[in-house]
Amino acid sequence: MSIKGWSLEHTYTQLPDIFYRHQRPAGVPAPEMVIFNHKLAGEFGLNAGELADTPEIFTGTELPAGATPIAQAYAGYQFGHFTMLGDGRAILLGEQVTPGGHRFDIQLKGCGRTPYSRRGDGLAALAPMLREYIISEAMFALGIPTTRSLAVVLTGEDVVRERVLKGAVLTRIASSHIRVGTFDFASAYGSKEDLQSLADYCISRHFPQIQADENKYLLLLREACRLQAALIAKWQMTGFIHGVMNTDNMAISGEAIDYGPCAFMDVYHPDTVFSSIDASGRYAYKNQPAIGAWNLSRFAESLLPLIDAEQDKAAETAQGEIASYWARYHENWLDGMRAKLGLATEEPEDAGLIAELLNLMSEHKLDFTNTFRARFEAAELEPWREKWRERLGREHKTPGDAAQMMDRHNPAVIPRNHRVEEALTAAEEGDLSVMHSLLSALQNPYEESETYVRPPAKEACGYKTFCGT
Ligand code: AMP
Ligand code: MG
Repeated sequence: MSIKGWSLEHTYTQLPDIFYRHQRPAGVPAPEMVIFNHKLAGEFGLNAGELADTPEIFTGTELPAGATPIAQAYAGYQFGHFTMLGDGRAILLGEQVTPGGHRFDIQLKGCGRTPYSRRGDGLAALAPMLREYIISEAMFALGIPTTRSLAVVLTGEDVVRERVLKGAVLTRIASSHIRVGTFDFASAYGSKEDLQSLADYCISRHFPQIQADENKYLLLLREACRLQAALIAKWQMTGFIHGVMNTDNMAISGEAIDYGPCAFMDVYHPDTVFSSIDASGRYAYKNQPAIGAWNLSRFAESLLPLIDAEQDKAAETAQGEIASYWARYHENWLDGMRAKLGLATEEPEDAGLIAELLNLMSEHKLDFTNTFRARFEAAELEPWREKWRERLGREHKTPGDAAQMMDRHNPAVIPRNHRVEEALTAAEEGDLSVMHSLLSALQNPYEESETYVRPPAKEACGYKTFCGT
């Protein structure tokens, strides 16, 4: 078989062997390409033209040149409770080194059982895999750090859930799949040497600039905190709700990962939660920043033995990093919200002005995305708008002058739930055109689009998402 641009390496397998198991994908009977990301393939140095016609590779039925498939071990706090997990339905083919010298994991999700499958079947259904494809590509276009999607392929096998569904495999691309949960695992089941190997590996892969520092493990925590503070602030500013922020779904790279029950909110309300399994609202919109801190605290706990031999001292230092996560988060959020309001300068009263706006938006059930995009034209916002105009005036600007800046920070098009559902339903019936037009609008989220800016009709509110596993 020709090389097709593959340049796979396997640095992860240099870790102690508790961190992974060799596992060849089982292969599938009738692989059929549903969607292939030509642009992304090209950027990765892959021969897109040829690969688009080899669904066998993107189901694990054939291995690409140089693949050494493994399943990774990890644990995680799921809704607060520690559990042993691991890649139960995903297999890593290797790390593709791009022409620019960047390293990315190529992972097949839904390609069959692994040693970590527990009672699961290792499979995935078409709609949830397409959903991850759509949302991840939308996140990327919105400028939010994220894993990417290279392909979705039908397997020709049924997957039994509440209904019998068509099986599919998603090819996911990530800077790495090292999670807070990978450290939860190392800390619970590994030796101190194992933990240190993982930390060193993670530093060399993601933060080489801190490698030579004598406090490098503390700096590893600091970097992870910095990236999450940036990521979660971006979620809050686009109304994105991850839905299942367990520690195993938080990547140390700072990329958003695992698009299960996630969704973007239409009407603004801080309590919004879509996931059918999140009855207590642990992962509601308003809780995301605090859950970020909670997860990072678990990460800090795992790192304590490496941070300082004196554990009390280590704990105190680590707490300082969590405090700076909060400071950074607030700073990112406030900077970002100012930009959304068209403000270029800072005034101490800005936080109050923003809080007042959000209260009014929730009281009057206003659409999150459109309210910002329309520059607060809703009648209910008129008294607030007056204050905003005065605030702009102090920058010698009118709302019209702020328009250009605001249009760069307030997307018009987000993957609204009713649109995503419509695309998935059509795709399940074999019509991919609905999804392709949605994807093409999502590629340019800051451009107007008559069709995709419309919020759902009232009946469509009360949307629920499912893990879809
Ligand atoms: P997720 O909810 O996708 O983050 O998955 C949580 C854990 O459950 C991970 O360890 C997955 O590998 C595992 N898992 C999810 N679905 C399946 C499945 N169908 N078969 C085996 N393992 C699964
Ligand atoms: Mg997960």
